[in-house]
Amino acid sequence: MAAVFLVTLYEYSPLFYIAVVFTCFIVTTGLVLGWFGWDVPVILRNSEETQFNTRVFKKQMRQVKNPFGLEITNPSSASITTGITLTTDCLEDSLLTCYWGCSVQKFYEALQKHFYCFRISTPQALEDALYSEYLYQEQYFIKKDSKEEIYCQLPRDTKIEDFGSVPRSRYPLVALLTLADEDDREIYDIISMVSVIHIPDKTYKLSCRILYQYLLLAQGQFHDLKQLFMSANSNSTPSSNSSPGEKSTDRSLLEKAGLSESEVEPPEENSKDCVVCQNGTVNWVLLPCRHTCLCDGCVRYFQQCPMCRQFVQESFALCSQKEQEKDKRKAL
Ligand SMILES: [Zn+2]
Ligand SMILES: [Zn+2]
Repeated sequence: MAAVFLVTLYEYSPLFYIAVVFTCFIVTTGLVLGWFGWDVPVILRNSEETQFNTRVFKKQMRQVKNPFGLEITNPSSASITTGITLTTDCLEDSLLTCYWGCSVQKFYEALQKHFYCFRISTPQALEDALYSEYLYQEQYFIKKDSKEEIYCQLPRDTKIEDFGSVPRSRYPLVALLTLADEDDREIYDIISMVSVIHIPDKTYKLSCRILYQYLLLAQGQFHDLKQLFMSANSNSTPSSNSSPGEKSTDRSLLEKAGLSESEVEPPEENSKDCVVCQNGTVNWVLLPCRHTCLCDGCVRYFQQCPMCRQFVQESFALCSQKEQEKDKRKAL
């Protein structure tokens, strides 16, 4: 039927026939392309374009200022019997409260309470949440902007020499930093920071370190602080928590966890250069591996981390492009 129609049409006017066939071809092509979302099928694209279109999801960042900083001074000399020295660096007057032998279970219940019931903004609030499930408590006042070394020790009369075999039901030391002045709690999103510290003793000789650090927010959330693995020894490493507030990128992802300190890449000669082009400034953090090794130009070509081959689920920039331009202008 259609064939007869086409033959008749051709005999009648060859030009009109060609026009009809051509129109049919155009319409069919249009429909096929429409099926692919008006997009060129993957095989026809060049590889560069493919990677560009499937690039990883950029994480939405929120900037918060962390008023607290806490580090262990000389971790190798710390022990349960000789005590531990902590260095604090806070932007406001703060209170450091140390809980020795804090119950692990009660500690995590306390974090849940912070989320669901009441905010842990004072040492009293944490004590209530812990149901006093700790062995010994001491408190220090920290003056703002002063790096203070604080020596903490279990008193001899407690006669505690270890916290039992592993797995343990108690953390050796939980250090809570809270804002001393009530008015300051209105200014900051982060109202307290808790650090879980391991201190070696007779039965468990793992070296002294900060196991976890949690930032507690006024809105009820809490964030586990983790260290970034910088590919280079950038002198502006935001992962250093010795200068709180100096850099206001989301510190929940930027802080030290101590635990992974040995995994930090050794500083390379050409510091803060991208591992791929060796030219751009390292700016992108890849998640979940936290390798920080790519510049703005190279990040879009990678679906896998160039350092550990792990698939990148999300990424975020340490410094937004605007900030970088500002920095450049300042440098000029
Ligand atoms: Zn690069
Ligand atoms: Zn990686």
